[in-house]
Amino acid sequence: MRLSKTFVKTLREAPKDETARNGQLLVRAGYIHKEMAGVYDYLPLGLRVIENIKSIIREELNNIGCEELLLTALQTPEPWEKTGRFSDREIDVWFKTELSSGGVLGLAPTHEEPITNLMKTYISSYKDLPLYVYQFQTKFRNELRAKSGILRGREFLMKDLYSFHSSEEDLDRFYAEVEKAYMNVFERLELGDSTLETFASGGMFSKYSHEFQTILPVGEDTIYYNKDKKVAVNKEVLNDETLADLGVKRDELTEATAAEVGNIFKLKLKYSEPLDLKYVDKDNSTKVAYMGCYGIGVSRLMGVVAEKFADEKGLVWPESVAPFKYYLVGIGEAGAKEAEIFYQKHQEETLFDDRDIRPGEKFADAELMGIPYRVVISDKTLASGEAEITDRRTGETKLIKVLDD
Ligand code: ATP
Ligand code: MG
Repeated sequence: MRLSKTFVKTLREAPKDETARNGQLLVRAGYIHKEMAGVYDYLPLGLRVIENIKSIIREELNNIGCEELLLTALQTPEPWEKTGRFSDREIDVWFKTELSSGGVLGLAPTHEEPITNLMKTYISSYKDLPLYVYQFQTKFRNELRAKSGILRGREFLMKDLYSFHSSEEDLDRFYAEVEKAYMNVFERLELGDSTLETFASGGMFSKYSHEFQTILPVGEDTIYYNKDKKVAVNKEVLNDETLADLGVKRDELTEATAAEVGNIFKLKLKYSEPLDLKYVDKDNSTKVAYMGCYGIGVSRLMGVVAEKFADEKGLVWPESVAPFKYYLVGIGEAGAKEAEIFYQKHQEETLFDDRDIRPGEKFADAELMGIPYRVVISDKTLASGEAEITDRRTGETKLIKVLDD
């Protein structure tokens, strides 16, 4: 991508009402645009980050046999009425709207009901199970407070996976596979060390669920953890009974503020029972299917990565999610010419700052945008046939050969 050809620009200031650091930096660096509180546009650079995160998740889920689909945002009340969740008392974040032909619709805040309903068409025999489907989909939630940049949106991108099984044991088996796949995702995003699988409230059907909590000062959750004992627990369920279940004492745990980047749930029969998702088993008896659901906040993750690695100069993306690997600058006549050649070779992974502005301004933008490697080719470095390559994270500069002798 050539900066001279794109509308993308860095901005001196973020909107006045944008108080979160991830929001301020992402707006200033030209990744996102704020429409209103909790509602953001993803500009070309931001979209590339989102697509990189999606690719990592997609690879890990496809690896454990999941299939991707895409459900609708518009929802008819019927399946939700069967579970009691169309009520604003049950789900207090619904956006609802009226059909011009009459009747009310909802904008999906999650998709357990529609996916369970959909699977009634495709699951009829034990031979159809197990089955795992996921989507990347925009969710709508009328959140009371949306002041954390893209960490809490009223419209946000989630990856939601649903699994269907013929037994609780099979659900347990797959749940453990998802736990591993999720940790792989967070490791690839360089959040492996700071993301803890945390015991959380399980609702009516399971004693516990698990959240994936990334330690982060601006997170909304409080967790207690002990890394050596490999336990973490959300404050919401921290009590004597939970401590006994986990085999730890309160004074062995450290408190931390964290952001929930994912969460996994053994739903068992919670939705399949009221929605009547049944199959015929080997012995010809009719049974209700077991279910699990597994979410990852894709846009929240982008915000978490932005918050986690940023420094006083701007964003610092891990290479796995950065929109481009190189930020290319040519200085002087020969430098500019050689930069063109470098760009031709590495177009896919290069953001080429070919604008007619001072090098100092380009360097400041390179830092604000957080591209992992800045490549500077100047008449000076070309004297030895080289270019300077600077690591955004460490600030270290090395020389690399660009000219053959
Ligand atoms: P939270 O406790 O943060 O409100 P939740 O428990 O309601 O989230 P789920 O319904 O399980 O979350 O959604 C799955 C994932 O989607 C969450 O783990 C989180 O990462 C992300 N998520 C939830 N709500 C939002 C939101 N308003 N904006 C951005 N991401 C969100
Ligand atoms: Mg939660």
